[in-house]
Amino acid sequence: MSSKIWLDKGLVNEEDAKVSVFDHALLYGDGVFEGMRSYSKKVFRLKEHLDRLWESAHSLCIEIPMTKEEMADAVYETLKANDIVDGYIRLVVTRGNGTLGLDAHLCTNPQVIIIARGLSLYSEELYQNGMKLVTASTIRMPSFSMSTRVKSLNYLNNILAKMEAYRAGCEEVLLLNHRGNVAECSGDNIFIVRKGVLLTPPLDACILEGITRNAVLEVAAELGIEAKQQNFTRHDVYVAEECFLTGSAAEVIPVTELDGRVIGSGKAGPITTKILAAYRELVRK
Ligand code: PMP
Repeated sequence: MSSKIWLDKGLVNEEDAKVSVFDHALLYGDGVFEGMRSYSKKVFRLKEHLDRLWESAHSLCIEIPMTKEEMADAVYETLKANDIVDGYIRLVVTRGNGTLGLDAHLCTNPQVIIIARGLSLYSEELYQNGMKLVTASTIRMPSFSMSTRVKSLNYLNNILAKMEAYRAGCEEVLLLNHRGNVAECSGDNIFIVRKGVLLTPPLDACILEGITRNAVLEVAAELGIEAKQQNFTRHDVYVAEECFLTGSAAEVIPVTELDGRVIGSGKAGPITTKILAAYRELVRK
């Protein structure tokens, strides 16, 4: 059955959901996006995702042609039209149609696209036994060049890194920043446990400010687990007691190997397991 896609001002059939070849989103990756989850028909942290979308758009001087309230309504309309209970929602805002030149001022008709799908998650086995990572030779784009806090449609940096994961037979890949510190993964933030303290790279480590990352920091505080936003290196990951990744799609997923080094016990650690359970409870609240 064809799904319903929100395009521009309303729902259309999937096969009619088309944008112009002159849209700068296609020509230059010029646009912004979000990926969110619905649990029991409710979108987790919708406000935070809309705020980040608006901030990304503001940073790129893209004016989103609807209000946040209108977009929230459109998200729920799209979920309903596709009968999605537990699912994944992609929001896209394009720069709009322009010329073949770079001038964004000539672009008109930015498109709002909302796609709602069922879930394609990592296997439960990975949540028990953890995933293996390799470090990418691709360096995370420095934020002084293009802010990694902007969730733009230009994901080439992440895509090139992810290719390295596949080549190494891994599901995800660790990116270092230009300073040689750990930044994040191609589509997830990273946490480690060192001497019982939860560590995650700070915002200036060239990362996306993940909404799951922020939720996990809140969950840790509620559980009484000390957490710090602090720079660390690959060595710190190798010798960590535990490691896990966070993302809207992945939720909280343990990592048990990096570059052939087993991390901790080689299984999901006690703090990771506690945080995953608390996170899964939070999203259903
Ligand atoms: N980092 C990157 C590069 C991402 O693309 C994402 C989202 N897929 C994340 C981190 C996690 O962000 P969130 O928790 O908001 O999904």
